[in-house]
Amino acid sequence: MRVGGSGELFGTNGVRGIANEELTPELALNLGRTIGTLRPGKIAVACDARISSSMLKCAVCSGIMSTGSDSIDVGIAPTPALQFYVKETDCNAGVIVTASHNPREYNGIKFVQENGMEFFREMDEESERVYKSKKFRVASWSEVGQLYDDDCNELYINAVVESVDLDKKFRVVVDCGNGASCLTSPEIVKRLGCDVYSINSHPDGRFPARDPEPTDNNLTLLKKAVVDFNADLGVAHDGDADRAVFVDENGNFVGEDVVLALMAKYYVKKSGGGVVVTPVSSSKCVEDVVKMEGGEVVYTAVGSPIVAKVMIEKDAVFGGEGNGGLIFPEHLVARDGGMSIAKILQLMDETGKKLSELAAEIPKYYIVKGKIPCKDKKKLLHELKKEFPEANHIDGARIDFEDGWVLIRPSGTEPIARIFAEGTTTKRVEELYEFGVKTVKKILG
Ligand code: MG
Repeated sequence: MRVGGSGELFGTNGVRGIANEELTPELALNLGRTIGTLRPGKIAVACDARISSSMLKCAVCSGIMSTGSDSIDVGIAPTPALQFYVKETDCNAGVIVTASHNPREYNGIKFVQENGMEFFREMDEESERVYKSKKFRVASWSEVGQLYDDDCNELYINAVVESVDLDKKFRVVVDCGNGASCLTSPEIVKRLGCDVYSINSHPDGRFPARDPEPTDNNLTLLKKAVVDFNADLGVAHDGDADRAVFVDENGNFVGEDVVLALMAKYYVKKSGGGVVVTPVSSSKCVEDVVKMEGGEVVYTAVGSPIVAKVMIEKDAVFGGEGNGGLIFPEHLVARDGGMSIAKILQLMDETGKKLSELAAEIPKYYIVKGKIPCKDKKKLLHELKKEFPEANHIDGARIDFEDGWVLIRPSGTEPIARIFAEGTTTKRVEELYEFGVKTVKKILG
């Protein structure tokens, strides 16, 4: 099964696969039974706007009810809206049916803890054991759970809107990409007192306008709309809106690392220090600005559940990934696309600066990413530890230099090693990337 890779059901983002082929109603039913067995009580279930989402959501709900737990069907919602609902209500767990940014034929199922956080790795492993053992709770005919309908988007929108207070009335273009954010983000911007122009803002699981993954290359319409409407900001979400990426007032894409650094700087400054948690693959610009403000960066392995987990352990003021997934712990310890809009607007409001001006204050680095074949993952990791004892080995090896770094990371699902390099000049980053490639080749022969 493709889902999760290497024969495991759960990958770094729950269970993913092609809908009705790999991710079937039977699989969804048994995942519903799994969560009902592990977290009996009330379980909220939401889905994104994909064509297969209703089919899978109904199967999950049935599975849950067969264990004696109640299913609360909250309909189409962004992942953070479902997570916030689980956190704020008396639900024991949540399930989100979404394939996030994956192509339209995919779908996915992810479990949520009582506190609204994604399941941690060890919880996914426990879920997998229960799923495979098929030792599900089975309720008697009179004790099967019930299905209730509710809405989670209103609760979420209110919480986001109440968390910031803007003086200025901004003009904002929101590109929902026909995903779940259609139901929340335009409304958030409107209730923040801003003028909102929304594009691709009807839910459509065929994703007719653009790929569900928002990238510099597929946001042409958003960039044009920002300029045409003379807007202050453009924002685009992935399919389930746990991520947000931004376009400045000139219609230029602002790198996700730059936005991560801007928010990290803002939070550390506001808190007078503190910890920021981010994966080891994140740009050095984050560490630069956090240190400048008297804070500290703690690096984790790649994956949002581990970032969130370490944020709790370190009592972090802020955290996030360099792909538009920002975590605002005072609200919800999970990536949150809707809150990202509110906080960027707050930053622009408080500083009186345009997004292009704010972005220009972040140190500039150049990045090169690539991959090379790697058949012996174990040997690579072992030799990297021996050869570079000073490097950060939390996820592969990140070797830091004065003017850049290189990360060598064997893939968990494919026979390749990923190489990320970052440097202060284009020449330096090429050198560092080559250094990474040579190192892998030398080790593997
Ligand atoms: Mg997502």
